[in-house]
Amino acid sequence: LKRNPNETEFHQAVKEVLESIEPVAEKHPEWMQAGIFSRFVEPERQIIFRTAWVDDNGDVQVNRGFRVQFNSAIGPYKGGLRFHPSVNVGIIKFLGFEQILKNSLTGLPIGGGKGGSDFDPKGKSDGEIMRFCQSFMLELSKHIGENTDIPAGDIGVGGREVGYLYGMYKKLRNDFTGVLTGKGLSYGGSLARTEATGYGLCYFMEEALNAKGKSFKGATVTVSGSGNVAIYATQKIHEMGGKVVAMSDSNGYIYDSKGIWLETIQRIKEVERERISKYIEYHPGSIYKEGCTGIWDVECDIALPCATQNELDEQAAKTLIANGCFAIGEGANMPTTPEAVDLFIKKKVLFGPAKAANAGGVATSALEMSQNSMRYSWSFEEVDAKLKDIMVTIYKNVSAAAKEYGEEDNLVVGANIAGFIKVATAMYAQGIVY
Ligand code: NDP
Repeated sequence: LKRNPNETEFHQAVKEVLESIEPVAEKHPEWMQAGIFSRFVEPERQIIFRTAWVDDNGDVQVNRGFRVQFNSAIGPYKGGLRFHPSVNVGIIKFLGFEQILKNSLTGLPIGGGKGGSDFDPKGKSDGEIMRFCQSFMLELSKHIGENTDIPAGDIGVGGREVGYLYGMYKKLRNDFTGVLTGKGLSYGGSLARTEATGYGLCYFMEEALNAKGKSFKGATVTVSGSGNVAIYATQKIHEMGGKVVAMSDSNGYIYDSKGIWLETIQRIKEVERERISKYIEYHPGSIYKEGCTGIWDVECDIALPCATQNELDEQAAKTLIANGCFAIGEGANMPTTPEAVDLFIKKKVLFGPAKAANAGGVATSALEMSQNSMRYSWSFEEVDAKLKDIMVTIYKNVSAAAKEYGEEDNLVVGANIAGFIKVATAMYAQGIVY
């Protein structure tokens, strides 16, 4: 706490993990002796840099850029870039820390990192977005590389931004490599990467639901957010026979008892770049309410928070449980507050934690890296099949770890332990190099 003042989200993430891996520490005194636990919570490297750019009025704007290279024990640093005004070092560190365990759970050779900026893409012109991305990459390019650190997208960084970032990297380095993932299909992107986090979330949750004799089929579902993760989770739920009745953005939420029309959401968010409130103009029978957290008042069987951290608190958890909700799957990173998580676990609500449930995005990014290295592309079906296989395996490993450590059905503990053991084993084997 003293070393990292005011990094609330980072403390929250570390506390949860350290508490659940206590039994591992008891089993491995040699890891304690080698300082694995204290090294594990300290990033290997963190870079903070000025990003200056010129807006459409000719005025100079200054933002702050971040890249936290947290842990490279099992592979090169890998994790997204977030562009949002709320970004600060504590948020990037919490995301990077979670990323270490998530990447470990995928079973693929990728370490943990995260980055971004307090730049707000909302309301910016295409030219402004491009100039910002170019300036950001001017500095970031010094610290990344296809075998060192491979960034990707996150909130506020989608296909358009990755394109501008990649173009600038190539211009600076004169090197066509897979240094970023989430690239466009015409320049090294992987089929199914766009869909991967949302689809993967559904594959993971379906496996977990099936183990309890339940399914998405016939279920009423609430999905918060309306970005990349939320859109493709909704698409997959509809394919699996469930019905998504509510979605949101940072201003409010929509409710459509007939089931959300995803084409309308995609048009509003991806083409018109408008607010979700516009949905009711296209579907007059639907309802819009101001305030995004109101979405948890909607009655549902399954809730998937897919917007941002700490969007589902204890009060929302109580309402969901009272309304009969029997499963939660975290599509966003750390969307559920610790009090809400405790309540769900106590009340035996099936709870799929982010680092396991939303690992499909980064897993498919690692598949993009493999395809880039091979100079080859797999079909959509091939990538999707691998993604499904990875998510099912993650569920099995996480639930087995929970059982082994006497916490059957607690997938939070299972994910933390299963993810940590691989990283700790690698750190121990490599000696005290950092
Ligand atoms: P997008 O930028 O595509 O969408 C984010 C969505 O969340 C938007 O609907 C946005 O609304 C809403 N949102 C953002 N900030 C807030 C806030 N403070 N309060 C309420 N709503 C908010 O991002 P993604 O879909 O890519 O990411 C969503 C979450 O999933 C994040 O936590 C991210 O870290 C996580 N994630 C993403 C992965 C990916 O592959 N994309 C992989 C793994 C995790 P508005 O439009 O109003 O801002």
